[in-house]
Amino acid sequence: MAMEWVPGVVVLERGWLSSNNIVIRAPASAAPGNPSHGGNPDAPAGVAVVVDTGHVRHAAQTVALIEEVTKGCGLVAVLNTHLHSDHCGGNAAVAARFNAPVLIPPGDFEAAAKWDESRLSFKETGQWCERFAPTGRLMPGSHLPEPFDRWQIHAAPGHDPASVILFDPLTRVVISADALWENGFGIVFPELQGRDAFAEVEASLDLIEGLQPASVIPGHGAPFTDVSAALSKARARLTHFRREPCRHALHAAKALMVFKVMESGAICPDDLVRWAGETPIFARIQHVAEGGPDGRDALREAGRAEWVRPLIQELLRARALVVDANAGRGDWLKAG
Ligand SMILES: [Zn+2]
Repeated sequence: MAMEWVPGVVVLERGWLSSNNIVIRAPASAAPGNPSHGGNPDAPAGVAVVVDTGHVRHAAQTVALIEEVTKGCGLVAVLNTHLHSDHCGGNAAVAARFNAPVLIPPGDFEAAAKWDESRLSFKETGQWCERFAPTGRLMPGSHLPEPFDRWQIHAAPGHDPASVILFDPLTRVVISADALWENGFGIVFPELQGRDAFAEVEASLDLIEGLQPASVIPGHGAPFTDVSAALSKARARLTHFRREPCRHALHAAKALMVFKVMESGAICPDDLVRWAGETPIFARIQHVAEGGPDGRDALREAGRAEWVRPLIQELLRARALVVDANAGRGDWLKAG
């Protein structure tokens, strides 16, 4: 699971419920004030930061994985590309274990500091996240703190308005979060909330292309080197979504439902339907998917259930969801 992608950069490849965690190490000699300067054999041989911490459900595993790859190092900060539940769910646990500060994109700092549910994504998407306290901002246009300051911070809105990506000009590695995957990119959430953001997705793809990366470490999936192929696929997908925003909305609904099933471990279909009925973003998704002029109609709960049930059947046919074979669970669903 842990792979040193380029010297000093270890990728903990996770899955879809938890984003990848990327540990960036720097030698102690480059760390000002590090006690190992004195030649103390017990002192850390370096320092490290971790980019993104996965989902809260996996927090204990994330802590254990980071402990393993930072042996002999001190973890000096937790960084987030953006504050979705699959990227920052382990923040509280990791920050507590390593007594590390948490640096996040500036666009979400105030909301996270106050834990303002109306401005964070967790209530809107009906997802779980443990509260954490951010301590600093990753300012686009600047660099990570020393001794990691080779890494540039760039704004990459689209999937999430506040998202940042990181680029190291020496190794030409981009840490792309959900702005670019090997086969696409993350849901364009602002589009579901009535704000044009497909142009921002395109601008973020242009940004990545302009950096001329040799490789990309995405938020989900393995790192890859064929960046131009990934960019072409992402652009084709974007064109498709722009032409038919309802397709993007349907894709979002299904992706969020599968995510909910993964978050729950297993869930009965009625509970999944109820969850979709209670989760604010589904009203907006249904509105976009139906192409209606006014989202308020979509808030009718009965209409939501009728709209969601066929999507579950489609996910079962596609094997994205399967019936849980565990005895006593009837028709409970789990991720395929
Ligand atoms: Zn995301």
